[in-house]
Amino acid sequence: MSQPLVPPFDKSFKIKNYDPGASEGHDRESGEGELSKLRLKLNEQQDMLFADGRYALLVVLQGIDAAGKDGTSKSVFREVSPLGCSVVSFGVPSEEEKNHDYLWRIHSACPEKGKVVVFNRSHYESVLVERVHGLVPEERWRARYDEINRFEAMLTQENTLVMKFFLHISKDEQRERLQERVDNPTKRWKFRMGDLEDRKLWGDYQAAFEDMVDKCNTKEAPWHVVPANKKWYRDVVIAKALIERLEKLALRYPEPEKGVVGLKVV
Ligand code: ADP
Repeated sequence: MSQPLVPPFDKSFKIKNYDPGASEGHDRESGEGELSKLRLKLNEQQDMLFADGRYALLVVLQGIDAAGKDGTSKSVFREVSPLGCSVVSFGVPSEEEKNHDYLWRIHSACPEKGKVVVFNRSHYESVLVERVHGLVPEERWRARYDEINRFEAMLTQENTLVMKFFLHISKDEQRERLQERVDNPTKRWKFRMGDLEDRKLWGDYQAAFEDMVDKCNTKEAPWHVVPANKKWYRDVVIAKALIERLEKLALRYPEPEKGVVGLKVV
């Protein structure tokens, strides 16, 4: 791959060096075929994760409006049993959430052992929208990168794998997707006038995404920078990364009770 999925830890991350339109020589047809197989494999791994019972998997999806957070959740996890996988979306904090620290609602939504939880937006909104819209003073959001790193390191120590994906799209691609929302009556409900206001802040958001990856790309919980203009490629990349990580755990089924092997049920 010409652009590493996980940026090097020892160099500063520059968003402009990453092409959101990349598909590394793959074509759509073979990509979709591969994706069908990867989805089934992911389901097998989740089944093992549950049976093994030692680990939990937290998947964090971040990206600008229309980057494909919903689409990724629907597509990558399509074959994973709902018994073991759920999606949690984080919107504008409620009054109760605002009256707590920013990690309160996050921590309580983290997966239990054996389960997969996908965060559609996450604690990173506290260094994205809260930074870009000036919802908290600069000294607060600046302090949060380290706080988040320590929080994620703790989760990892406690056997929750943290897999973070930044869905990277171009400004043109966002325009096309927002236009499609306006034009398509079945998608119109997703369009908010505020999306256009946020689009005007494109540069500020890109700077915030760059810092998010740069400052929170840790060995324990690395950021994956996913070229996301092509939806099928985005999904292949994410599914592959998840499977590779789960396979490294060498998950195993628990030993059966004594006497079960060879038993004839009458
Ligand atoms: P989505 O855009 O993800 O499909 P919504 O339309 O419900 O879903 O939008 C969620 C909104 O919540 C986004 O505009 C996002 O900026 C906002 N949001 C999420 N977390 C926070 C936060 N910590 N502070 C303020 N706004 C937030």
